[in-house]
Amino acid sequence: MLQQVNGHSSVSDAQGGESFREDLQEFLSGEAPLHQLDDLTKVNPVTLETVLRCLQARYMADTFYTNAGCTLVALNPFKPVPQLYSPELMREYHAAPQPQKLKPHIFTVGEQTYRNVKSLIEPVNQSIIVSGESGAGKTWTSRCLMKFYAVVAASPTSWDSHKIAERIEQRILNSNPVMEAFGNACTLRNNNSSRFGKFIQLQLNSAQQMTGAAVQTYLLEKTRVACQASSERNFHIFYQMCKGASADERLQWHLPKGAAFSWLPNSERTLEEDCFEVTREAMLHLGIETPTQNNVFKVLAGLLHLGNIRFADSEDEAQPCQLMDDAKCEGSVRTSALLLLLPEDPLLETLRIRTIRAGRQQQVFRKPCSRAECDTRRDCLAKLVYSRLFDWLVSVINSSICADPSSWSTFIGLLDVYGFESFPHNSLEQLCINYANEKLQQHFVAHYLRAQQEEYTVEGLEWSFVNYQDNQTCLDLIEGSPLSICSLINEECRLNRPSSAAQLQTRIESALAGRPCLGHNKLSREPSFIVVHYAGPVRYHTAGLVEKNKDPIPPELTRLLQQSQDPVLKVLFPTDPEEKSQEEQGQSRAPVLTVVSKFKASLEQLLQVLHRTTPHYIRCIKPNGQGQAQTFLREEVLSQLEACGLVETIHISAAGFPIRVSHQNFVERYELLRRLRPRTSPGPCSLSLDEGRSEWSPHTEEAALQPLLQDILRTLPALTQAAAIPG
Ligand code: ADP
Ligand code: MG
Repeated sequence: MLQQVNGHSSVSDAQGGESFREDLQEFLSGEAPLHQLDDLTKVNPVTLETVLRCLQARYMADTFYTNAGCTLVALNPFKPVPQLYSPELMREYHAAPQPQKLKPHIFTVGEQTYRNVKSLIEPVNQSIIVSGESGAGKTWTSRCLMKFYAVVAASPTSWDSHKIAERIEQRILNSNPVMEAFGNACTLRNNNSSRFGKFIQLQLNSAQQMTGAAVQTYLLEKTRVACQASSERNFHIFYQMCKGASADERLQWHLPKGAAFSWLPNSERTLEEDCFEVTREAMLHLGIETPTQNNVFKVLAGLLHLGNIRFADSEDEAQPCQLMDDAKCEGSVRTSALLLLLPEDPLLETLRIRTIRAGRQQQVFRKPCSRAECDTRRDCLAKLVYSRLFDWLVSVINSSICADPSSWSTFIGLLDVYGFESFPHNSLEQLCINYANEKLQQHFVAHYLRAQQEEYTVEGLEWSFVNYQDNQTCLDLIEGSPLSICSLINEECRLNRPSSAAQLQTRIESALAGRPCLGHNKLSREPSFIVVHYAGPVRYHTAGLVEKNKDPIPPELTRLLQQSQDPVLKVLFPTDPEEKSQEEQGQSRAPVLTVVSKFKASLEQLLQVLHRTTPHYIRCIKPNGQGQAQTFLREEVLSQLEACGLVETIHISAAGFPIRVSHQNFVERYELLRRLRPRTSPGPCSLSLDEGRSEWSPHTEEAALQPLLQDILRTLPALTQAAAIPG
């Protein structure tokens, strides 16, 4: 049975309908300043314009968090606000009888999520999905939430430990600087932009103490190691090393002061993130000892020298390309080989000569590569090493922070993934990122919007339907079967036929003609197609799409790296005897999954996990693109509000039921109430149990009732609108 107690049932109203009406009246009469409206459901009428005005007023009054029904809107202050994240404030939210009565904050979300885990109603795993565009504050927010849990969910036994760094919470926090050093970079939009997606599962035992964590990463932008857009940088770790290495280390890693590396652009800029010591310290606390660290940095230095290798065009196609005719280039090959502990000649040969196995006998042919191919192979080598190194780091972090499965029973998941992207030039990376955002948006829509409306229909409730944007048609276009953009790009890879960018565009346009979310490509001179995403249309260029999707790794490169004597590379590139013997016998290798297929699989896995949790949403908003404090650019915020469908969310939240309890749980929990009747005799307790319990003394009676009453009082505000769902 669903029951609507009063017309408006946002979470804030659950705290008291009266105060809401007062606030609203004040607001309507112009008495309450806009910046005092803590919940956007109280804005009247709810339109983009009013929501924008409210957020602007709050931002200018240094109020950065605002509720939007079931979502928390977080505006990036772009300035330090230490008092907003102090451990004292964390404890205040944690100790509050009703944290939602305090000012909106990520700690409210954190605390509610934490309480939900142990909820008597339905203990269930929780997730907090932090979204927003690049630079909006997602990583900052998830880092703060991790700190929050490190304070409120610290296990008392871990505090007994004398060494702070050994505490599990500290180790979990230490994973941040390490992952950010290796996975973040300075981009045009954010000086500390995460170039990978991250889902961290904070594991809790039955006493709700954090006993461990597990990290899953998504789609590291590995191309950055060998190719950086102008005004952007490589991953932080390279700059940290070059700036922070000691004289001795410089010598060992061949990084003399002032050395120029082509893969290290914009190194004259010093960022807050360039702190080598912090990374090293955190690595140490995660169990990566100094000798191993040194090996890692030696490998990275080897990659920097690899990046300085330049090839010249070969006059004779039958001959391998020569190195650019300077001694510096030869030095780079030598130093790179030295640092990667690879034999120098095979390194150069692998970069310049392709080996092809053909025929029944699997005869080996050697074909010199063109200059462009040599460059591609050099870059591929670096990407291969860097991406495996990153994966290895994640696995080391996991083994250091992951709790024994028997020591935890529930988890809180924090998802920090790249937001929707639309650039002048969009390729496979943007397609994957925007595909992930479509999936997450669908999860959100399914969870809050559609489920709510459908349920109300089934329950026969009067309800005025809100028009929400269902993005299933867009997802069908991207990932559906049998025909979709992904399937067509995969097909091109499978067929391995030479196809131009224009041909790919034509194939997509003809195979998917008539799909509502496929835009027409009339204006662009470059071959491309347009996808109308929920957040707006994006033009994807088809040039290079298939190749990127194949992400081919010449087997010679892997074989070369398997020859390395370096202990880190030995771990990253183990020799697989089975693979070797297969190759020798001329058996073909298992088909390699395309980038899109791998991404799709990991995304599906993530969504399966999310579906089994109760989600909470934090939408981060960037008030301006320049990272300036006290600057609220309406146009920029407006497009972000539109992109995340915030207004529809507010409409639904304002009219919906915030709490759902299964019928069985409801009955089990409150069945006792049915048997209560007013006590006739005077006494401290005005309620007593009904028939059949006459043998109970008033004392036992009270003892039995007390916890229930407390429970009711605690949950009463929300339960006044509880929706008891049959079954
Ligand atoms: P995203 O992960 O969404 O790309 P970040 O979390 O890296 O964005 O935030 C970008 C920058 O904005 C941070 O480096 C920091 O300088 C600033 N920032 C974000 N959130 C806050 C905050 N709550 N308080 C102060 N500064 C913030
Ligand atoms: Mg980030």
